[in-house]
Amino acid sequence: MPALDEFDLIRRYFTPPVLPAHVTLGVGDDGAVMQLPPHSDLVVSVDTQVAGVHFHVDAAPAYIASRALRCAASDLVAMGAEPLGFTLALTLPVAEESWLEQFSVGLLQAAQQLQCPLIGGDTTRGPLCISVQVHGSVPSGKALRRSSAKTGDDVWLSGSLGDGAAALALIEKRIGFSSEAADYLLQRFYYPVIDFSLGVRLRDIASSGIDVSDGLLADLGHICAASGVGARVELDALPVAAAWRDSVSAGQAQQWALCGGDDYRLCFTAAPCHAAALQTLGDLHRVGCIVEGEGVLVVDQYGVPCEEQGNTSNGFRHF
Ligand code: ADP
Ligand code: MG
Repeated sequence: MPALDEFDLIRRYFTPPVLPAHVTLGVGDDGAVMQLPPHSDLVVSVDTQVAGVHFHVDAAPAYIASRALRCAASDLVAMGAEPLGFTLALTLPVAEESWLEQFSVGLLQAAQQLQCPLIGGDTTRGPLCISVQVHGSVPSGKALRRSSAKTGDDVWLSGSLGDGAAALALIEKRIGFSSEAADYLLQRFYYPVIDFSLGVRLRDIASSGIDVSDGLLADLGHICAASGVGARVELDALPVAAAWRDSVSAGQAQQWALCGGDDYRLCFTAAPCHAAALQTLGDLHRVGCIVEGEGVLVVDQYGVPCEEQGNTSNGFRHF
């Protein structure tokens, strides 16, 4: 069989057969064309996953693809945006057909599930690297920012924390888990929950928002820095999944919940008058409050600062 050339590859694996009506022009031209809903702002974010840094080279290609799109889409949720489409910049060492087949099936399946179509991209040769740029829309002026948390707001979190760090410990074989816990963690790592409807509902409720990709302390710290406030996080309020909680010490679980990355949950702030409504929205947890000052302080159930628990830790940084 002749080697796959760049344009065969794009046609065969990265050209979705059907596109939603707002995509006027998809893969195949110099650029894609999309129609924005009336009176809306465009939200754009890009996320890069490097083999050996963000995922294991030998991970299932469909898993790598799902994770790449979902992690990028998480930023749209955090902005309160709804998806319009994404572009893919793919760097590959070799054009291996079975890898590409599995990767593209996983990618287009995730795109279908998220209703976020593939509209274009770029294909190059080099060390395996996947860059996904997502485009979304919000009603004009309604994007959820990091910079508008107010003293007295509650701090909320969607779903559980620490799953990403626990999954990495599993994948890197540092800690053994039961097969049920392992199933849960792999699902959470490769198929992080992306709930655009949550971001949409929070547009008129939340005062600020961020997705938790580098750890709660680091990401809530970004909200604090951008908003000119501080935060108190109640250690006992941190939601940790029952699926793996008892597989490690309580201290380890708390450490991962505070400082582990890769959770792709939504952290947001809201005035206390919204608390009752937020309790009814689903898997949302109040984990602390916004205070005057700066930085994030972790406290115990009596409000006493916990010296050991990450008060000096800053989450994951590449440099
Ligand atoms: P150009 O040279 O004009 O930048 P390319 O030759 O790189 O265009 O790509 C041709 C078409 O294929 C473009 O529409 C581009 O968006 C699309 N494309 C390239 N690589 C990918 C990919 N990995 N996934 C989806 N679309 C892609
Ligand atoms: Mg061109």
